[in-house]
Amino acid sequence: MEIRKCLQDIPEYIPGRTLEEIKKKYGLREVYKLASNENMEGPHKAVVDAICREAAKVNYYPDANCTLLREKLAQLLNTDEDNLIIGNGTDQVIEMLCDCYVENSSNVVVADPTFLIYEKAALKCGGEVRKIPLSQFRQDIKNMVSAVDSHTKILFLTSPHNPTGTAISQKDFEYVLERLQGQALVVLDEAYVEYVSPEADVNSLSYLNKFSNLVILRTFSKIFALAGLRVGYGAADKRIIKDLNRIRLPFNVNSLAQAAALAALNHRQEIESSVKQIQQEKKKFYSRLDEHNIRYIDSQANFFIIETGKYTNQIIEELLRQGFIVRPGCNLGIDGFIRVTISLPPINDKFLENFIKIYHQYNN
Ligand code: PMP
Repeated sequence: MEIRKCLQDIPEYIPGRTLEEIKKKYGLREVYKLASNENMEGPHKAVVDAICREAAKVNYYPDANCTLLREKLAQLLNTDEDNLIIGNGTDQVIEMLCDCYVENSSNVVVADPTFLIYEKAALKCGGEVRKIPLSQFRQDIKNMVSAVDSHTKILFLTSPHNPTGTAISQKDFEYVLERLQGQALVVLDEAYVEYVSPEADVNSLSYLNKFSNLVILRTFSKIFALAGLRVGYGAADKRIIKDLNRIRLPFNVNSLAQAAALAALNHRQEIESSVKQIQQEKKKFYSRLDEHNIRYIDSQANFFIIETGKYTNQIIEELLRQGFIVRPGCNLGIDGFIRVTISLPPINDKFLENFIKIYHQYNN
């Protein structure tokens, strides 16, 4: 049996390394994972309680329609329940979008580099992936739109972008929507939207009524600290949601994830302090790096990239020895950089102290 031809060259997604793996390899007791943009504060206690309550009922199948969660989301986003689809992580919604619309003779347009799942999902369906290089660490909106032709099914945008953390401006977003109206789907992945500063926020949801080809993706994995449970969602025109529901597996979101996401929304006020803390910590990172003339890219997310130069691998290895897992830029299409998730203040301080020392060892 041979794997389908279009699957033979699918790039491998290399996840951040796990705490246990690094503890064992380097004989460490304390390891800090700053590699996967998770929320280091962890879920709210009320969310953990909701998961525990639900745990006693896992003999039942989950609600196939995520009724309570969709109701709550619809209310908060000021949309209709039929405009929403819940997935086993945003990853699954991306996959469903490609499964629905991408086929052999079609293509998708993505930035290069970007979040790898868009490419994987499109290749799986036999589609061509048109990669448009970033310009100054930002998605090159004009070139991305120019790459769209009559065979393009989806243009993927990410804001804030992963791995660079840069956000799309209102003007660029409107340019894409206006140029592609009635053509390809515009998928705006906002996995990190809660971290965006108010001045940079494009209020994407307000465009859904006017642009029936717009799909907005969000997740509970980041600010809501539920990455391990896998729950994300898409908001779009009802016809798109209906298409996605045709191929959605009936029990795609497990009952613990549904209960946790609902509880997280009921305690959403508390995320404001998390967002503030990330913003303050980011400033601290920037000012320390500025003091040492270390280059980084200003980010609107809970992570950012730092230029580490030609000794990046050695710096990463040295950081691992000190118990810090960061994401190598070479795994993300940005050689010579590392991507660092902003953690809790004492861990950030410890990281900065170690990183700056190691950086100078290799860059002087
Ligand atoms: N989109 C982007 C831009 C991401 O960075 C991530 C997570 N790394 C996802 C989507 C996937 O989110 P989820 O955990 O909901 O599948």
